[in-house]
Amino acid sequence: MTDEAYGTRVTSYYLPGAEAAAQAALKYTVQALRIYSDHFGEYPFTDMRVAPAPISFRGMEYPQAILLGVETYTRFRDKLEMLAVHEMAHQWWYQIVHNDPVAEPWLDEALAEFSMRLYIESTRGEDDAQRLVVQRWQTPLNGLKAKQQDTAVDQPVPAFLNGTQYETIVYAKGALFYDTVRDTIGVRRFDRFLQNYARKYRWQIITSQQWLDALRDLPDPALMTLFEEWIQPPTPKVR
Ligand SMILES: [Zn+2]
Repeated sequence: MTDEAYGTRVTSYYLPGAEAAAQAALKYTVQALRIYSDHFGEYPFTDMRVAPAPISFRGMEYPQAILLGVETYTRFRDKLEMLAVHEMAHQWWYQIVHNDPVAEPWLDEALAEFSMRLYIESTRGEDDAQRLVVQRWQTPLNGLKAKQQDTAVDQPVPAFLNGTQYETIVYAKGALFYDTVRDTIGVRRFDRFLQNYARKYRWQIITSQQWLDALRDLPDPALMTLFEEWIQPPTPKVR
């Protein structure tokens, strides 16, 4: 089935019996495409596809396509929306601005994850957005801190102890970092920062150093402190 958003044709595929879930996946994807275009800059393609795949309840991003675990169309239906809108954000943070996903996974994952806050804010309002921040990001991070497993966000995938630490640090703590940056500089400047970042590095494979250069364009000394406290690796990387 198809729909259209800002000149992009969005196609949602489904297996027999999963039409209602596919209709929902189409709706979430179209909404996300509109909301992210408004915040980050327009989606530059006329075609976008969303399809179920045998990856249980997980998602995976590809250029102009997202795969959603086939179980999110059935028994994990409650995960479908969040998964679809996280993967849709990768169209900007992974496809338009690309990075090494093993050496510096935080560059695309933290921002794709944070983008969900903008989606929830826009579709459901600030109370629900706050609930997302607390339940999805703050609570898992607090759990990790209680186990003394808190660490810096900008580290390669193999540096993490396990999948839980990787996801909690790179996704949840990374998203909380963006949330804190946004609180610090204000919503309008934050949107401008992301728009400039997307424009400046469009179609490039960037590094954390370039990300930092974009942050330095914002004349706010508090941001460097935030970066050092949350993101910067414990020992400087050899490049
Ligand atoms: Zn992701």
